[in-house]
Amino acid sequence: MADRVRVRFAPSPTGEPHIGNIRSAIFDWLFARHNGGDFIIRIEDTDQARKVDGAVELMLESLKWLGLDWDEGPDVGGDYGPYYQSERLVHYREAARTLLAGGNAYHCFCSPERLSELRKQQQQDGSDVTGYDGKCSSLSEGEAQSRIASGETGVIRFRMPDEGATVGHDTIHGTVSFENRLTDDFVIIKSDGFPTYHLASVVDDHLMEISHVTRAIEWLSSLPRHLQLYKALDWDPPEFAHLPLVLATDRTKLAKRHGATSVLEFREMGMLPSAMLNYLTLLGWSLDDKTEIFSSEELIEHFSLERVSKSDAVFDIEKLNWMNGVHIRDSSPDDLANALSSYWNQYPAAEFLSPPDRDFALKVIPLVHARMKTLTDAAPLLPFFFQDKIEYDSEQLVQKGMDLDGTRVVLNAASEGLTTLDPFDTDSIENMLRPLAKDLDVKVGQLLGALRIATTGLKVSPPIFETIEALGREQTVKSIQDAIDRL
Ligand code: GLU
Repeated sequence: MADRVRVRFAPSPTGEPHIGNIRSAIFDWLFARHNGGDFIIRIEDTDQARKVDGAVELMLESLKWLGLDWDEGPDVGGDYGPYYQSERLVHYREAARTLLAGGNAYHCFCSPERLSELRKQQQQDGSDVTGYDGKCSSLSEGEAQSRIASGETGVIRFRMPDEGATVGHDTIHGTVSFENRLTDDFVIIKSDGFPTYHLASVVDDHLMEISHVTRAIEWLSSLPRHLQLYKALDWDPPEFAHLPLVLATDRTKLAKRHGATSVLEFREMGMLPSAMLNYLTLLGWSLDDKTEIFSSEELIEHFSLERVSKSDAVFDIEKLNWMNGVHIRDSSPDDLANALSSYWNQYPAAEFLSPPDRDFALKVIPLVHARMKTLTDAAPLLPFFFQDKIEYDSEQLVQKGMDLDGTRVVLNAASEGLTTLDPFDTDSIENMLRPLAKDLDVKVGQLLGALRIATTGLKVSPPIFETIEALGREQTVKSIQDAIDRL
């Protein structure tokens, strides 16, 4: 194993960052941080046709939101750059030249039509050997060069051994063995001069001194190709770990039709980054099969690839919602105020006239903290903070067992009491109002019921004493006076 742990996350910028992909990034990051190593981001943009503008920015934004940081990458640079594969073509061409010179690769001029015919034929025959049949493998380099000189275009293929097996080791799956006759002579340089994923990732993992490659299980079948490339280039391969799939609850691959699949959609749904990080890490990893709640520091402390499961993980939004609620309840008021105010800034709720600031968030946290599962839940609990005039029907002020006059008396007394109350906080509000009900010979519920409608317009509101403190003396007294006028 290389001396220093260096792990890379290598996304292809082909669309919105899918949580399966992000889960790989999280495992890379946790592994690097646990081992005091480097975490590197490399953009695999060699598939020109599938490139999507803005995808890199969305990817980096998603990772940042989750609290990941990186030592090298497209935005921060580093000693092993550039970190966009499209800017590293010289390296792939040089590797291809070495492979051609050593007889480990050859030019191929077969047309797409021939290849598709070949595929059809193989399907018809039901053969277990699929892929390229090696037609061009006996062309000499001289012949190939003269065809290129005369204007023909083609690809460069790697010459896989026909016999024997390629045996590798995977941290999660143990020894893995692949029959060579089942892997064809695959393309390493495409007709547009760009490398394929296979060549580019091997070359970059080597040049960037990557010690551990952690990637999705779908790449396990490519391992024999990669190991053969390392061998032909006379390079030591890194350690490999192939991560389990992320499935939906119906056990098909998690896709758009199942709901949100991009991390930024979950941010918009009001998830806390700490909960998202916690939940995504548990998609395939566990400490002891029972502990579920981890802070990011705890994840770093405990993470190991050995505890990554071989079996598929199931993404369950209900579980994520539950976990988010736990993280919200575990958050300090300060942290939650930060999260809420930046959430409100980014996604202003319909209730707001303008997005409230952090002081406001801090003030209302006691009213909503225990009742929120997501950050989205807060604003709808607080509409009365954003209404010029509290909205309700005036008959709602009159509580069961009371009449108009009685209600007026009760509201007047409460208003007087609150006008002079000092300090104006939850405890003194409660300590003044409860005995007041007794003095007025009404039930506490009747007094508070009338006050609740007057100050919030809601039959069910956040805890009323806390609510009155948060509204403040001026606003509260004004609303009560207004209620008296409306009676
Ligand atoms: N660009 C590949 C992907 O996005 C990376 C696979 C790997 O990590 O090697 O799936």
